[in-house]
Amino acid sequence: STTDTDIGSLIEQANALPSNPKGDDLKYEGKVVVVTGAGGGLGRAYSLLFGRLGASIVVNDLGVTTTGSGSSSSAADKVVEEIRLAGGKAVANYDSVEEGDKIIETAIKAYGRVDVIINNAGVLRDISFARMTDQDWDLVQRVHLRGTYKVTKAAWPYFIKQKYGRVINTCSTVGLYGNFGQANYSAAKLGILGFSNTLALEGRKNNILVNSIAPTAGTRMTATIWPPEMVEAFKPDYVAPFVAFLAHESCPSTGNVFEVGGGWIAQVRWQRSGGIGFPTSKPLLPEDIATKWDVITNFYDGRATHPKTTQEALQQFFENFANAQSSE
Ligand code: NAD
Repeated sequence: STTDTDIGSLIEQANALPSNPKGDDLKYEGKVVVVTGAGGGLGRAYSLLFGRLGASIVVNDLGVTTTGSGSSSSAADKVVEEIRLAGGKAVANYDSVEEGDKIIETAIKAYGRVDVIINNAGVLRDISFARMTDQDWDLVQRVHLRGTYKVTKAAWPYFIKQKYGRVINTCSTVGLYGNFGQANYSAAKLGILGFSNTLALEGRKNNILVNSIAPTAGTRMTATIWPPEMVEAFKPDYVAPFVAFLAHESCPSTGNVFEVGGGWIAQVRWQRSGGIGFPTSKPLLPEDIATKWDVITNFYDGRATHPKTTQEALQQFFENFANAQSSE
């Protein structure tokens, strides 16, 4: 499809960045982009690319460590400097994403509008669930889930008023699949996906598109667990073009989640087995479930589906109920 081709050419453009710093078609002139946690890692790569594509950027970063301690203005300042040196437009913001309204206020004060938000700021408090404290749990929920909520909430009225907005939220494979020692983080990341799915529905009629990515990139965050050569190979620059595509005016996608890293990109969706309908006229026994366990969990009998909406998902419940009643 054209989308695949566009993404392919974006990646080529990313790889050719030094000699071809601007994509030919994908422009961001006049657009205001807010990137949270943009003082390093992925957020920095996004901001530098948006700068090259002509956007006006708010570089937000609280300047904390990976585990969320301290604070400093220099992380955001450095990236603003880099963008400006390359001829781009950027201002810094040093607030926590928990104070999303202040970040959006920076965009309005500097540029008079906001078009795109990239919710990217994040911290880790990895520890086995048995040893996890309330602080480990709460900090991670606050920065990831509440921070994503607060920034988006503050931008939303502007998006509705101008009937335009793009939101890219940051999920994780750890949220999609789970990971040892990351119960707090995986809960927050999958929470962000649920949040995105509902905002996509609510935003659509006002041309507000909301998508999520589960990135894989070598940053100071992954440097805590990956070997150095892997950190070096998985450059954040491989992720940035995909984010720039999703955040563009021409983006055809909303309510979707993608895995992206190292030049590889794929969409992820739910799959539901064909299931089984029991008669509603007699009591359902735990033994009945045991007998049909193989059917309930079978994804390979040609009956599995990929429900896209709650309505679609509920349809089979109603059908079973109607069938079971009419056959009584
Ligand atoms: P990073 O540590 O380099 O960047 C995160 C940035 O967020 C830091 O600059 C930090 O100062 C900032 N930050 C932290 N708390 C903040 C707050 N309250 N307000 C504002 N800024 C704050 O890590 P990264 O790998 O670039 O991560 C970016 C995002 O991608 C995170 O949400 C992370 O969970 C997600 N992610 C990354 C990977 C990966 O492979 N790198 C994988 C899955 C998800």
